Amino acid sequence: MFLTLVLIGFLVVAAGTSVRWVLTRVDALGRIAPFPKISVGLCVAVAVGCAVPLVLHARLEGTLEDAASRVAGGPVGVHCQTAGETWTDAGAELGFVRWGADGVPERTTLIKYGACADLRSWLSSDKQDPREDQVVAVHVLTHETMHMVGLTNEAQAECAAVQRDARMAEALGATPEQAQALAHRYWLDVYPRMPEGYVGGCGPGAQWDEHLALAPW
Ligand SMILES: [Zn+2]
Repeated sequence: MFLTLVLIGFLVVAAGTSVRWVLTRVDALGRIAPFPKISVGLCVAVAVGCAVPLVLHARLEGTLEDAASRVAGGPVGVHCQTAGETWTDAGAELGFVRWGADGVPERTTLIKYGACADLRSWLSSDKQDPREDQVVAVHVLTHETMHMVGLTNEAQAECAAVQRDARMAEALGATPEQAQALAHRYWLDVYPRMPEGYVGGCGPGAQWDEHLALAPW
């Protein structure tokens, strides 16, 4: 939001300066003033400097949204928290989906700034040997996607996500082998450390086992 305002502000100043030059470029003696290249150029440069991160942000959200929609089986929205939005955020979770008053989760999610940064770095990597933060970030997107399709029980949503992490990783561009390896790492290394409420009922033949082909067990 802040960047958008700065971008618009500098574009307005550049346009205003150009218009003023057009209107006043010939003085009373008929002399033509040179175009204010430096001031207009600086304004445009700052505006472009603001536009680049905005475009990258929108592209990242589009990539995450496409993959999440594929795993969800229908359109869902993904918003990546911006640096500005972190100032007013005290929550420790890596993402969330709001529930409506009727108890039905919205089909849009907020992924926190750090998790989105980890997703961005994983997407631009060769995906061969991801950091644990990156594995967790991919899983966070899967977990929130499970809320968006209607699961409100945390242990069930977590287990449904564990069984779809490989699909999500593939939808985001990993090879089938890389996707399976990522899902395994989450299941073996991270899942056992999840807090109470998120674990239980998950595993081969357990309560939330959906017998999916790409389950990590
Ligand atoms: Zn959750």
